[in-house]
Amino acid sequence: MPKVLDIIPGTAVDGPGLRTSIYFSGCTHHCDGCHNPQSWDFEAGTLMTTEQIMEFVEENGFNVTFTGGDPMAHAIDLLPLAKELKARGYNIWCYTGYTFEQLIKMPGCRGLLDFIDVIVDGPFIKSQRDINLRFRGSSNQRLINVPESLKGEIVWWNDGIA
Ligand code: SF4
Repeated sequence: MPKVLDIIPGTAVDGPGLRTSIYFSGCTHHCDGCHNPQSWDFEAGTLMTTEQIMEFVEENGFNVTFTGGDPMAHAIDLLPLAKELKARGYNIWCYTGYTFEQLIKMPGCRGLLDFIDVIVDGPFIKSQRDINLRFRGSSNQRLINVPESLKGEIVWWNDGIA
């Protein structure tokens, strides 16, 4: 399991509804203007087991967002947690600096995608920053409906509001 920098229950900015955001440490993308550069260090944070994280999530019952850092840097390690969350009916969003096209070619990441509902993909690009965008920082990033997109063409997540 990767180290956890923070777990924030009840956030409204990392996907629809109130969610529990889990911040995993470690990111190799090093985007200029990153909102959370302290998360780049793979050694930062605290080791937590799947059971410990599940206990935290179940306390509030909110759906879950994986963020960081780049959770996809730990795709294989996150598989047991993602499986457990899905088995208990949670919806999972995941922020990543990789694009969907890159992820489906990376075996560990491709495996994790089977348990993710939506990814917000791609690096943060400062020149494309737009504060009006919903759930993302720059306009190159996409809100991708993963189960639908794994069938072939990329399908954007859409709840009819944006
Ligand atoms: S992918 Fe995310 S966490 Fe990593 S450097 Fe870019 S904005 Fe920061």
